[in-house]
Amino acid sequence: MNETKPVIIAVDDEPEVVQAVQRDLRARYASDYRIVWAGSGQEALDTLSTLALQGTPVALMLVDQRMPGVTGIDVLRETLETYPNAKRALLTAYADTEAAIQAINDVGLDHYILKPWDPPEDKLYPVLDDLLEDWQAGYRPTFEGIRVIGQQWSRAAHDLKAFLARNQIPYRSMDIETDPMAWVLTEQAGATMTDLPLVLFSEGPPLMTPTPSQIAERVGLKTHATSEVYDVVVIGGGPAGLAAAVYGASEGLATLLIEEEAPGGQAGQSTLIENYLGFPKGISGADLARRAAAQAQRLGAEVLVPGAVASVSRKDPFFVVTLADGTSVTTKAMVVASGVAYRRLSAEGVDELIGAGVYYGTSNIEAANHRDQPMYVVGGGNSAGQASLFLSRFTDSVTILIRGQDLTSTMSAYLIANIEANPAVQVRPHSQVVAAIGDTHLEGLVLKDRETSEEETVPAGALFIFIGQTAHTEWLADLVQLDEGGFVLTGADLGPLKGWTAERDPLPLETSVPGIFAAGDVRHGSIKRVAGAVGEGATAIRFVHQHLASL
Ligand SMILES: Cc1cc2nc3c(=O)[nH]c(=O)nc-3n(C[C@H](O)[C@H](O)[C@H](O)COP(=O)(O)OP(=O)(O)OC[C@H]3O[C@@H](n4cnc5c(N)ncnc54)[C@H](O)[C@@H]3O)c2cc1C
Repeated sequence: MNETKPVIIAVDDEPEVVQAVQRDLRARYASDYRIVWAGSGQEALDTLSTLALQGTPVALMLVDQRMPGVTGIDVLRETLETYPNAKRALLTAYADTEAAIQAINDVGLDHYILKPWDPPEDKLYPVLDDLLEDWQAGYRPTFEGIRVIGQQWSRAAHDLKAFLARNQIPYRSMDIETDPMAWVLTEQAGATMTDLPLVLFSEGPPLMTPTPSQIAERVGLKTHATSEVYDVVVIGGGPAGLAAAVYGASEGLATLLIEEEAPGGQAGQSTLIENYLGFPKGISGADLARRAAAQAQRLGAEVLVPGAVASVSRKDPFFVVTLADGTSVTTKAMVVASGVAYRRLSAEGVDELIGAGVYYGTSNIEAANHRDQPMYVVGGGNSAGQASLFLSRFTDSVTILIRGQDLTSTMSAYLIANIEANPAVQVRPHSQVVAAIGDTHLEGLVLKDRETSEEETVPAGALFIFIGQTAHTEWLADLVQLDEGGFVLTGADLGPLKGWTAERDPLPLETSVPGIFAAGDVRHGSIKRVAGAVGEGATAIRFVHQHLASL
């Protein structure tokens, strides 16, 4: 029984440290993990290669840096191939912190812990709990969960899988055309080709051609509000909305967050956010979203997913927020944090192939579906740069298509340097997509050189589009003042006010309607960064309090 548990390995050449670390690890983690130790770097490498041969998962390596012969960093480096996803922490003396910071880049070090770590409740367990929770989120033991059966290039199947992936719900995809087991299961479920995509659960009846909401209900996501009236309703679950929900709930407001697709917003699609404070190694958008959503819920916010706000009407001094499914809630204040959506690429054949080789944004599923195929990225901004580097893990042929001469005016220097150092990623300047070719799925692209007007047809497995964004405010039309691009005007940016009913001037982040605030990318003048969105979401709650006090 013990053998099937994932392993935590502790390595130190000083027997009393090994004893202490074993004692502390056992006390907290023995019920879920097998605790293994080694007395030298070499012994650790031997033990880890035996575990790899047995197929035993390793969740965490907690390794002393200073050991004779094979050092802690050596152990972490040597096991990168066998255990790429294991969390890596170094036990260091104060003098080793520089080596530890260097190791963040060299061996993907996740954390370093200064010795001694007494009391473990303060200095050891919080760090390890966090690392293990992250590891668990990405760990897939033998599969028993949801299976999505569909045709490989079906848009409906792709949308369902994207919904599951973005909400971090594990599933297995089965292709009806190539997997005989998929046929057997489809027949057993009494379904035919017209019932695809078919979703099977470990318990309960299957769902045929379900909507994301039907799946959400089956997997226990909250899709309906539990109260009729809230202090504040936050619309949008990106970084701004999640921050507003965390601060609203933690400050005692009855808080409801409504999110159309999945918590995380655009940030949830970022493969590695490297510039958000406090994550020296960077953090994936999916991790950040998972943590923030869990935090908001733990503090008491209600999070509805998927729930799309269709309209808002005034019932002074309250607001009625109506969702696309026709249900509604009443609130005393609102934070609009609906962010931006990708601008659409207008070229022949592109719309027809969305989900079948053409994608807005990237995720693991799309990248893995097109492994080893030529991939193209349209756009010269940071999101296109991040996506290209991420895709280069799946293929040795990623081409960034840009209209200009080079990336210098549109992309951060650190990303350009990483792209230049990556032989799998090429930049093709002066390029424009004229057409996407393929019947059932993308097979090629017609590219035009904007300087010479010459056209070339290239084979392509996938096209990922990052060509800027437009505000997500169609549902707000006529209610609050917007700028010409559809972004929400707030505070000092507001034009002459019509129908302003409060006795005070608009607060910062307040829209042209008292009690409706805006935060993050959707707001005119915002800086379009995760940290900016989080800051504004939190700040908006400060002004919500002020508004509520004046009611
Ligand atoms: C690929 C990519 C990589 C990025 N990398 C970085 C980075 O490394 N560092 C950095 O600082 N920034 C990065 N950014 C930018 C950053 O992600 C955004 O600035 C940030 O996510 C904005 O947060 P937000 O909450 O304002 O809006 P968004 O993240 O856009 O979230 C808005 C949310 O509102 C929801 N929504 C919209 N309309 C409705 C409605 N009617 N009802 C319910 N919900 C609705 C949407 O589904 C969405 O989840 C990146 C962006 C992208 C696309």
